Amino acid sequence: MTTAEIITIGTELLLGETADTNTRFIARALRALGVDLFRAQTVGDNTARIAEAVREAAARADIVITTGGLGPTVDDPTRQAIAEACEAPLEFHPELWEQITARIARYGRLPTENQKRQAYIPRGAIVIENPVGTAPAFIVDFPPLPSLGEGPGVRAVIISLPGVPREMETLLAGAVVPFLQERFGLHELILVRTLHASGLGEGMVDDKIGDLETLANPTVGLTAHSGIVDIRIAAKAASEAEAQTMIAAVEADVRARLGEAIYGADEETLEGAALDMLARRGWTLACLESGMGSALLARLGRGGHAAWRGGSSRTVRAETLAEETEAVRRSEKASAALGVRLEQMDESQTISVVLLTPSGKAERTLTYGGHPGNAPRWAANMALDFLRRAGQEAG
Ligand code: AMP
Ligand code: MG
Repeated sequence: MTTAEIITIGTELLLGETADTNTRFIARALRALGVDLFRAQTVGDNTARIAEAVREAAARADIVITTGGLGPTVDDPTRQAIAEACEAPLEFHPELWEQITARIARYGRLPTENQKRQAYIPRGAIVIENPVGTAPAFIVDFPPLPSLGEGPGVRAVIISLPGVPREMETLLAGAVVPFLQERFGLHELILVRTLHASGLGEGMVDDKIGDLETLANPTVGLTAHSGIVDIRIAAKAASEAEAQTMIAAVEADVRARLGEAIYGADEETLEGAALDMLARRGWTLACLESGMGSALLARLGRGGHAAWRGGSSRTVRAETLAEETEAVRRSEKASAALGVRLEQMDESQTISVVLLTPSGKAERTLTYGGHPGNAPRWAANMALDFLRRAGQEAG
């Protein structure tokens, strides 16, 4: 098992000015290599704290990847921090300085003295040339530190990449991935498939598949958001085909236990599943929504599904929801119509759903007690779940 940790560096990340997108990108690249990512952290532009984080991560993991802090300014402390962590002094590389000045000359400018910092790399490091920016990246072997009580031999590699996402991505794909494959003999991969369930709470899903969540390979994990539960199945194997076989076995088990609660997988959406159901029955849909800020209409209208006709978003009284939904069905020339009304009360929200189809009328009322800001999304999910199930039951 090859393990990794990520350290993103930048005070702007800790101040909430910049969203850390590098971790997500690197995490996916590691996953594709079959490397287990055990930890990711963010540290500000502080040499001592970066050095400490790197030393600790290198004592736990085989691979430590840092991003950021490689620029030419005083507040770009990563080179110095890695040098301190590895007890390898910074050394000037004339050939790097030549490349940097040549690149700057191409922008029609002269290098400043502080840009020379970027040509200093910890002793013994492997340089990764940066064809898309001035900051060279580098890889250092983490030496056995006497204070850690380790024997001889390389324990970890520390890979320092620029913070600018596009530069980082280019160097990761072009240089780091091939390096890691060779260094660690990586020929496994991690494949992920996510099943989506609606109409069952997270607790209920957990009750039904809790034992699967303790499997070691594939692993099974749950994520809940506003009435939808994602069931993530991640398999590690020597080939994609093998991983797919492992996932298929667990998926069949999950589907057998959760039945119709599962509406799709991976990129499939709840609105897509509902509209597909309507199309299979030869129906078309119109929609009237009230108090939801077009949360439902926006989703139904996306992608131009053949079963979608159109609809309206306006304030509707509870007593006239069914009537007005019928009017929208007629004006949109649809065979089915969904009417959804969200009402904000003091402590909670109530949604009323009316569904009119060629096989009749169905109604449902539900109460929501979560964060008010999530109520429209939750209401839309409840209504779409009701829609797709009503169509199945009528079938
Ligand atoms: P640096 O290499 O630290 O000079 O970072 C250059 C720029 O890259 C920063 O100004 C940020 O806008 C961006 N950046 C740095 N780290 C990250 C990160 N983890 N995720 C997304 N953008 C980042
Ligand atoms: Mg920075």
